[in-house]
Amino acid sequence: MRVYLDNAATTQIAPEVIDYMSELMKSDYANPSSIHHGGRKSRIIVENARKTVSSFLNTSPGNIFFTSGGTEADNMAIRCGILDNNISHAITSSISHKAVIYPLEELRDKNKITLNFIKLDNNGKIDLTHLEELLKNSPRTFVSIMHANNEIGTIQPINEIGDLCQKYNAIFHCDTVQTMAHYPIDLQRINVDFITGSAHKFHGPKGVGFIYISDNININPFISGGSQERNMRAGTENVHAIAGLAKAMELSFLNMVKDKDYISELKRYMIDQLKLNINGIEFNANCIDFDNSLFKILSVSFPKVSESEMLLFNLDIHGISCSGGSACSAGNMSGSHVLDEVCKDANRTGVRFSFSRYNTKDEIDYTIEKIKEIFS
Ligand code: PLP
Repeated sequence: MRVYLDNAATTQIAPEVIDYMSELMKSDYANPSSIHHGGRKSRIIVENARKTVSSFLNTSPGNIFFTSGGTEADNMAIRCGILDNNISHAITSSISHKAVIYPLEELRDKNKITLNFIKLDNNGKIDLTHLEELLKNSPRTFVSIMHANNEIGTIQPINEIGDLCQKYNAIFHCDTVQTMAHYPIDLQRINVDFITGSAHKFHGPKGVGFIYISDNININPFISGGSQERNMRAGTENVHAIAGLAKAMELSFLNMVKDKDYISELKRYMIDQLKLNINGIEFNANCIDFDNSLFKILSVSFPKVSESEMLLFNLDIHGISCSGGSACSAGNMSGSHVLDEVCKDANRTGVRFSFSRYNTKDEIDYTIEKIKEIFS
């Protein structure tokens, strides 16, 4: 049996998205910048996709810019948000994704900004009082806090963060890559300047994402060249991937409640089975608190015994794919910067199981059987 429980790293492309993209690949290959019939058709595909994305987020199509994925969108928000607005101070958290931490550290190391890391509680939740102190005592600030963490699932209070940012005239970037199309996001109700999304996290294709930029922010082009994406991000649009992103987003939004209930049930079942069958099992941060943590992530802490040393490897041998930390830093065996922050017990082995609408209870039973065998 093959079981894919690594859906926070990436998801299976929905069959409907594959069908839709393959049809378009056959029929619509013209460059959307061409003015002939084919070009105009491709342009319509891209602009319809932009309308789909903006309508689900309750904003205007003009605020959505397509990118090559979440990393590019995060980099765009940070570099343009800071450099084009003469910002000299930024705040983030130590559990942000590296697509956020690295560009911020790079700007700090080049003496463009001072960088503060906000205090976190044991669950990785940010300290709002500390955020206010930092904002109160600083020049105009760029704040980058993720909506939900990709390793432990902690959800941040983004409405409150947005309100504080507005109060102190700070620019707020929220990395919504893990929550996009899994949770409702109403941009009329959150004070946020940039949010970012990536199609491969919600059953769309890889290498395509987007950034929302609020009307309050002016930035210069992130990539220069042609006039694509209203001069903000040059380069021929990845028409089929953009269409696939919009199709995947539509499917996810239309099935959001059903998928959430189904996946939460699988996660609950796995928690119960692990508690029942594995002595000394623990769960990292607040990942079993469904109100404060992503319903699709279960970050498990196994007792460090000889069997758990090679746990990921052994699960892989049995056909079970899951992750030890963030799979986004492929090949990086230095451990997880997130688990280092919130789960300081080096005597345990961390495994992230992450679920999707395509997982089944049988797959969870098989996974539990194999974990039991490994630990027996
Ligand atoms: N931000 C978060 C929270 C992520 O989980 C990821 C990917 O795992 C990214 C950004 C990067 O997205 P992409 O893989 O599309 O570059």
